[in-house]
Amino acid sequence: MTVVERQQWDVVVIGAGGAGLRAAIEARERGARTAVICKSLFGKAHTVMAEGGIAAAMANANEHDNWQVHFRDTLRGGKFLNQWRMAELHAREAPDRVWELETWGALFDRTKDGRISQRNFGGHEYPRLAHVGDRTGLELIRTLQQKTVALQQQDHKETGDYESGLKVFQECTVTRVLKDGDRVCGVFAYERESGRFFVIEAPSVVIATGGIGKSFKVTSNSWEYTGDGHALALLAGAPLLNMEFVQFHPTGMVWPPSVKGILVTESVRGDGGVLRNSDGKRFMFDYVPDVFKEKYAETEDEADRWYDDPDHNRRPPELLPRDEVARAINSEVKEGRGSPHGGVFLDVSTRMPAEVIKRRLPSMYHQFKELADVDITAEAMEVGPTCHYVMGGIAVDSDTAAARGVPGLFAAGEVAGGMHGSNRLGGNSLSDLLVFGRRAGWHAAEYARGLSGARPVVDDAQVDAAAEEALRPFSVSGENPYTLHQELQRTMNDLVGIIRREAEMEQALRALAELRERAARAGVEGHRQFNPGWHLALDLRNMLLVSECVARAALERTESRGGHTREDFPGMDRAWRPLNLLCALTDGDAVALTRETTEPIRPDLLALFDKEELVKYLAEEELYE
Ligand code: FAD
Repeated sequence: MTVVERQQWDVVVIGAGGAGLRAAIEARERGARTAVICKSLFGKAHTVMAEGGIAAAMANANEHDNWQVHFRDTLRGGKFLNQWRMAELHAREAPDRVWELETWGALFDRTKDGRISQRNFGGHEYPRLAHVGDRTGLELIRTLQQKTVALQQQDHKETGDYESGLKVFQECTVTRVLKDGDRVCGVFAYERESGRFFVIEAPSVVIATGGIGKSFKVTSNSWEYTGDGHALALLAGAPLLNMEFVQFHPTGMVWPPSVKGILVTESVRGDGGVLRNSDGKRFMFDYVPDVFKEKYAETEDEADRWYDDPDHNRRPPELLPRDEVARAINSEVKEGRGSPHGGVFLDVSTRMPAEVIKRRLPSMYHQFKELADVDITAEAMEVGPTCHYVMGGIAVDSDTAAARGVPGLFAAGEVAGGMHGSNRLGGNSLSDLLVFGRRAGWHAAEYARGLSGARPVVDDAQVDAAAEEALRPFSVSGENPYTLHQELQRTMNDLVGIIRREAEMEQALRALAELRERAARAGVEGHRQFNPGWHLALDLRNMLLVSECVARAALERTESRGGHTREDFPGMDRAWRPLNLLCALTDGDAVALTRETTEPIRPDLLALFDKEELVKYLAEEELYE
């Protein structure tokens, strides 16, 4: 029997990004003793890297904005595949979550009359992103950390122990969610620095682990984003929803190679930046799809007038949803009209004075100066698509964030599926984290309280099995985890990337099966004290599982919609609109895929759209109903 330290908490939150911290704060405020575990340093999460802002219909910059317009924009962006109840809750509750952040000390940029400033972003009808320059995520996390510390100080006053009600375990990785029968009962984790194992026993587990980008070669994501939460849920018996939808952000850096994929925020376009090809042409005017034609400008003059007079002009096509812009850039490069390093040009230098660029886009200015030796106040940036965000994720209940089929398991943030449909609008992630992080923490606390005496129990056999699995890389050999990771990234990038074809996805599935078999022999040397090769060997299990879900679902969906583009099925097919794809694990750990019909959109929400627009998206029977 493996002897490991065990601690007892009411709620354990895996992940300390925006969703995890918001969940933890809520759970603690509702009286649950809450532990937070995060793989990297406390405060280092993707949320910190978010630049553009938090989407919330506060109507500060345009009085016509309201939750209904935000809901409409979100559904259009997601091509009507969104879990509509989530999109409704998100649009209704996001403003309160932003105001709440302000009461907790967040310092947003202001309008001239002192309100929270809101900026334009792709797919949002009105300026809607509350922001702090281009460092919004940093302020969000700083504020949530400050709130965490405030709660710990309160606990100290009452109990003499800062960590009695809310404790953070940083640089610790969870490798298994543990179960007692069908209910969750805790998590198994290791400390990255010492390699020490420990178990947190808790009846409620919230997964808030973010994305999967590290399965792709070119990505804006950093090292932690290996799809751990997606895989933990799968292994615990919860299905994943619509994993085929992966967002390729249109503007990542393309040069130099060492920084390829690093994000160039959409605020650059929201604030007036334009995309040009090697002929100097603003090519996005050629790529406005029919469903969006009425909303976007047809000439450069009209597009430019929109920045000062949005009520009487249509938006520039550079601000189409991300999937449209990414595909357009891909086509321009493929047609031979790309920039010298295989991207296109994104220009602010001819559109704004240098001091405005430095004030509004300080991080971008420094990023290009330091990483590429490009002065964006004087020359154009070179940009191209980069794997950025996963819309697919753990299938959850819209109101409670409870994962389907596993009592006590909850999920929020990027790891949860459904909210964004087939494509996420910029800015809708930070608001999603706050809205559903709070809901997950709230319901996780309620669930734990509701169990009172009848708590699930962690048995020794499960702990032994988890320890044995975690130690396996020390007892096998023959494959190098780094090599396998590179092969996996290349497979996903080249064969299940931005444009997909049947034969290539079949090839990818064969390659993934082989990699999975080889990963069982991924061995490491040395010992458990800070051993990155070992950590990667463990992460491979997660990346391979999640990649297989992406490839299987992408092969199954024979249409193009949002973040899923099939060269062999280029159009959006209304018959697929009401269909979700669910991935689950069979007993033998194979990925099984099922189709599920979605719940019809509530009539009062459908009534927010014109009939002519609905005809473009909904299947015949849905319209009839
Ligand atoms: P994250 O913030 O990704 O946090 C995940 C947490 O889980 C981390 O603490 C990590 O250490 C932990 N974790 C992971 N695996 C494990 C494990 N096995 N064990 C323990 N802990 C684990 N969205 C917007 O709305 N607006 C923007 O302007 C914007 N800009 C972006 C810019 C960049 C460069 C990137 C990469 C993303 C951006 N996004 C933006 C998207 C948004 O930032 C993310 O979707 C969001 O922050 C995800 O938050 P999260 O709380 O779900 O997870």
